[in-house]
Amino acid sequence: MLTKHPHATGLPGPKVAIIGAGAAGLMAARILTASGLSVTLIDKSRGLGGRLATRRVESFAFDHGCPSVHVSDPADLALMADLTAAGTAVAESEGKYLGLPGMSSLLKPLAEGLDLHRGVRIAGVRREPAGWYLRPDTADDAEMGPFDWLLVAAPAPQAADLLAGYPDVSTQISKAVMAPRWTLMVVPDGDLNQESERIQFEDEVLDFAIRNDTKPGRGGPESWVVHARQDWSGANLEISSDSARDRLLAGFRAHIPQGYPRYVTAHRWRFAEVASPLGGPYVIDPDLRLMAGGDWCLGPLVTDALASGRAMAAQVLAFSEPALR
Ligand SMILES: Cc1cc2nc3c(=O)[nH]c(=O)nc-3n(C[C@H](O)[C@H](O)[C@H](O)COP(=O)(O)OP(=O)(O)OC[C@H]3O[C@@H](n4cnc5c(N)ncnc54)[C@H](O)[C@@H]3O)c2cc1C
Repeated sequence: MLTKHPHATGLPGPKVAIIGAGAAGLMAARILTASGLSVTLIDKSRGLGGRLATRRVESFAFDHGCPSVHVSDPADLALMADLTAAGTAVAESEGKYLGLPGMSSLLKPLAEGLDLHRGVRIAGVRREPAGWYLRPDTADDAEMGPFDWLLVAAPAPQAADLLAGYPDVSTQISKAVMAPRWTLMVVPDGDLNQESERIQFEDEVLDFAIRNDTKPGRGGPESWVVHARQDWSGANLEISSDSARDRLLAGFRAHIPQGYPRYVTAHRWRFAEVASPLGGPYVIDPDLRLMAGGDWCLGPLVTDALASGRAMAAQVLAFSEPALR
């Protein structure tokens, strides 16, 4: 996968904790580990990839978060070439990549060999003279630490909450704005006879729908992921999942008449996409050895999250050079 740094031989170096195993956290973790640093990567989800997500139910699978990734930056293209060689990415068209067998698998090779803790939500962090300590939200999990560096690679509002005790950093993070999105996963009871695999709606509720089963490497029965409009999602953020399902399904059936589906469910992404980014690759307090980053720093795309992850890793390495020499 990524080339190993000559120091990647277990030499003592700074210990880094990264909260969030989405694109930003995985990228940072991979670079730092390959550079010989000791990295602990923690995510509250049992899966990997954050909003690069795939829901599997019975024989169905849905990419219910980010549906595909567009890249043009040379570093991203090189990464996609590595992932393609590793069998977790496939190019659908020039610069457009999908995860295999689902979007959640796209970045899996970046996690190889990492000290990865999944299903662990960090409820609190604190800086002591010895370093950073992380408190998981379950009584079963012991406090983690000390770490020399803490990188928080969570969506901006979650990162700001976690770092509320460090207002210089959390106030900066809070300047980024994220928008929600409801998505609907549908397996129709019969062929919908659509010519296209992407339907764009002119609608007050629905934005677009993408057919899932015909994406490369998928298969199974016909399945669709329907994305609600961001403004409708924002105005209806707190309705129940059942209500959202019924509203979105009614909208979908109004456009594409069908019987009652074989399977249907809705998912709320409270922090789906970046509406207004921060404008720099991360937020840092160098004295505390604290950074926060993610797509919300640079823009609404996976490529923005990867760039933020790379920039955070480069900053840690710049600080750590004397220790690594
Ligand atoms: C519906 C939808 C459609 C999208 N469409 C596109 C698109 O077409 N193209 C595109 O490029 N991008 C798209 N995106 C955006 C893209 O998915 C994101 O930009 C990118 O995945 C963000 O990566 P990230 O690492 O910054 O954050 P995330 O992927 O959100 O990763 C953050 C991780 O932090 C973890 N975390 C948070 N708090 C804690 C805690 N306290 N303890 C432990 N773990 C924690 C979360 O579980 C998560 O895994 C879409 C997203 C959604 C939801």
